[in-house]
Amino acid sequence: MDRRVEVRVSGVVQGVGFRPFVVHQATGLGLVGHVGNDSAGVFVDAQGASEAIAVLLDALAIGPRMARVESVQVRDLPLGAAVSFEIAASLEGVGSTSLPPDTAVCESCLAEMRDPADRRHGYPFITCTDCGPRYTIVERLPYDRSGTTMIDFPLCPACAGEYEDPRSRRFHAQPTACPECGPQLSASVSDVATALADGRIVAIKGIGGYHLACDASNKEAVARLRERKARGDKPFALMVPTLDAAREVIEVDDQTAAILTSAERPIVLAPARDLDLQASVAPGNGYLGVMLPYAPVHHLLFDAGAPGTLVMTSGNRADEPICITEVEAQERLADIADMLVHHDRRIHISCDDSVVRHSTDGLLPVRRSRGYAPLPVPLSVDAAPMLAVGGELKTTIAVARGRHAWLSQHIGDTGNLETIELLDRTARILSEVQRVEPTAIVSDLHPGYLSRRWAADEAARTGVPHLLVQHHHAHLASLLAEHQWPAQETIIGFAFDGTGYGTDGTIWGGEVMIASLGHAERVGHLRSILLPGGDAAIRRPLRTALAHLAAAGLDAPPALELAAEPAELAVVGRMLATGTGCTPTTSVGRLFDAVASLLGLRHTVDYEGQAAIELEALAAVVDSGGEGWDFTTEDGPDGLVLDPGPALMTGMAAVSAGQSPGTASRAFHEGLADAVAQAAVLLRERTGLGVVGLSGGVFANTLLTGLIQGRLEGHGFTVLLHRLVPPNDGGLALGQVAVAAAGGATERSR
Ligand code: ZN
Ligand code: ZN
Ligand code: FE
Repeated sequence: MDRRVEVRVSGVVQGVGFRPFVVHQATGLGLVGHVGNDSAGVFVDAQGASEAIAVLLDALAIGPRMARVESVQVRDLPLGAAVSFEIAASLEGVGSTSLPPDTAVCESCLAEMRDPADRRHGYPFITCTDCGPRYTIVERLPYDRSGTTMIDFPLCPACAGEYEDPRSRRFHAQPTACPECGPQLSASVSDVATALADGRIVAIKGIGGYHLACDASNKEAVARLRERKARGDKPFALMVPTLDAAREVIEVDDQTAAILTSAERPIVLAPARDLDLQASVAPGNGYLGVMLPYAPVHHLLFDAGAPGTLVMTSGNRADEPICITEVEAQERLADIADMLVHHDRRIHISCDDSVVRHSTDGLLPVRRSRGYAPLPVPLSVDAAPMLAVGGELKTTIAVARGRHAWLSQHIGDTGNLETIELLDRTARILSEVQRVEPTAIVSDLHPGYLSRRWAADEAARTGVPHLLVQHHHAHLASLLAEHQWPAQETIIGFAFDGTGYGTDGTIWGGEVMIASLGHAERVGHLRSILLPGGDAAIRRPLRTALAHLAAAGLDAPPALELAAEPAELAVVGRMLATGTGCTPTTSVGRLFDAVASLLGLRHTVDYEGQAAIELEALAAVVDSGGEGWDFTTEDGPDGLVLDPGPALMTGMAAVSAGQSPGTASRAFHEGLADAVAQAAVLLRERTGLGVVGLSGGVFANTLLTGLIQGRLEGHGFTVLLHRLVPPNDGGLALGQVAVAAAGGATERSR
């Protein structure tokens, strides 16, 4: 029985080799008809045996390697008279499809690259319709070669032939090139491999920017890189050549293996197996971040004898964006690297590596960037065209229109002008390639954030409203958005993080909210403390410990007094007594800092979140079973108050009685999880709500998240966790879009 169907496929279906894929499938199945591109995606007209049509429809739902199929709509047509399967002329129109992300080199290209007889043998810029750079090289739409930085490289006759041949793997592969006509590396691969083997630090230009690389097994080289990059104890990411090599370094279960080898190729944080390596690369951290090669040049380096475990860290100076041009690399990386390796394919927009974390039931995004950006997140409400600029740390931005929010790559900490410039550039590029003309600019409420100031200027410049969204509402809304939550439905939300500006002008970070996309009511919080010196205390957990003890009416233990600088106790004591120079905060991030100091783990941090990461690492290897440190949960003037006072008292006693930091940290985690569960149960009694959402940077802690999830599910709650965007401030922009789309943002009066 013959059947003829008209099929419409939408999603990321253009610039990904969809049409040759359909031709290949359809001709293999003996079907006739055509395939083409239009403004809504890909259209297919296919006729043949019904079983063959069914097979084709299954294939269309998946698509080629780089495609992200959102929907497949099928309509039956009367049988026609086509005799072959063709590619139809493209229909022009405003594109509503999405630009593909940058994708790891595919197996077919790798095989060619390693084949001495192939004309692209050893070529570091080999690519096809299934792989290679996309987002980072597109300058304008429509997506064709002249709109990318590959316009610098006119195709040679051989490449042009492939480009125009619908049966070729390189049919309309916009970045295609060969050694004859394409980009070149500034140094020979074998020289670079030798330099790395000799312990030198090499800055290598890759897909989304420069990396700084060195031999990870060479402790002296790693220490030199750490010092030159002024990195403190902050962990470095690693690159290893194969999955088997990854198994030597970290615990690899099936899920980790799948994500390590995925086309997105993120850095995967998993429990360290090589503890010696971990001590030098990620001190104090139970995890190592590992990725597999994704650019052809990475494979070539390993093939040429580069060390089997490389540090591969972003090529930037502390707090600055990753370098993408030769000039930037000369200016900023020449003091750090012993050797600079450039290439002449321009990077139009930077894109740092993505980071995901292994957890027991699913992977948690920590940084959503290369491989994912600018893929859209579908929205459950219609958004007017808008731009949201996130917060300050780990910033990403988003543009939205209709039912889509396109999220940018990682921009970084926008506390400096270089990063604000990158935000500005990214906003223009993302708006242009996704054709969003913002009718509103959305930012965080924090009056001190440069991103908010940028938003105010941009709104004034373009004459559109500047909308403000409270930080923790944005966190919870990002969670609701990624779960496609209906706009009217409310949940009990816990938004725990380091710092976020509250509607009362204090610093929040331990918030309990009854939240929907458009509305959030603060119904509880961690007990407020005075933070002496605000930001200065963030780098000095000892001060936060003193502040928490003072708030709980407890005396500082002798060990803490001994660890303080001579004048510090007196100064901090005076500040806490008078409130001078103190900021009230309900931050759970700061509570982790305080506990780390009380346990004697560390009194100063090198980077945001360090204390919490180390506490988690210690607690994760300790069996549960002990009693959690008790919090109390009582009603206060502005809702439930989760008071860690009793927990701190128990903790101090346990530590002075000689309890190990690991056991103590575990008891703290269990106690905090108990407190959250208790608050949720109380709120369910009051509101009838049975769904709990966990968002905010604290929930990058998978141990804590798992403990809370277990308790809540035991109480019959449905628990929403992040799987698509990070729980940290990297997810804020999506939340801001979601709140604004649902009508929950406040317009800033001018
Ligand atoms: Zn390829
Ligand atoms: Zn060529
Ligand atoms: Fe936050």
